[in-house]
Amino acid sequence: MKLLQERIVRDGNVKSGNVLKVDNFLNHQMDIELFNEIGKEFKRIFSDLKITKILTIEASGIGIACITAQYFKVPVVFAKKAQSINIDGEVYSTKIESFTHKKTYDVIVSKKFISPEDKVLIIDDFLANGCALAGLIDLVRSASASVEGIGIVIEKGFQNGGEMIRSMGVRLESLAIIESMNAENGSIIFRDE
Ligand code: 5GP
Repeated sequence: MKLLQERIVRDGNVKSGNVLKVDNFLNHQMDIELFNEIGKEFKRIFSDLKITKILTIEASGIGIACITAQYFKVPVVFAKKAQSINIDGEVYSTKIESFTHKKTYDVIVSKKFISPEDKVLIIDDFLANGCALAGLIDLVRSASASVEGIGIVIEKGFQNGGEMIRSMGVRLESLAIIESMNAENGSIIFRDE
């Protein structure tokens, strides 16, 4: 998605440790006009799918998922991070290791909000090592629902998450795939360039 690539180049900040900071338009301040274009693009890419629910994870995925849901006209469910949980049978739970915070979270979704008939589109802001996505897929499968597709705003193609998730046979589409980036000179190269 050209508009997104241009925005990443203009406002993205390459940090050490393979972190791309995009808090000017995606992760802290949010550019809703851009989000709107992103939502429209996800709808175009996944227009062949019959989706009943969008699933994301708090916090950064929520804004993108909500705008995207307006195009699919389905509810958004966000998985909640909890430091520790009592598994009381009311929730599906999984563990996710956070790439940016280097911490492991229990992540939960209430059983009320995903059911076996659901056809789920997973939406998230970033894909790095794929831990967050693997956890979300696990939650959907625990509910015996199906993962119809995954939409990612920015995939860091030089990390192994994309390959891992695609090798599971899940349809994964990323609007911008970064082939390489350099913290020293700030350069960002996209896969299709
Ligand atoms: P993964 O589980 O794929 O390793 O990491 C995915 C999650 O980590 C995303 O939901 C995102 O919140 C965060 N993340 C991973 N890499 C980056 C990055 O380079 N920049 C930012 N801002 N967040 C990232």
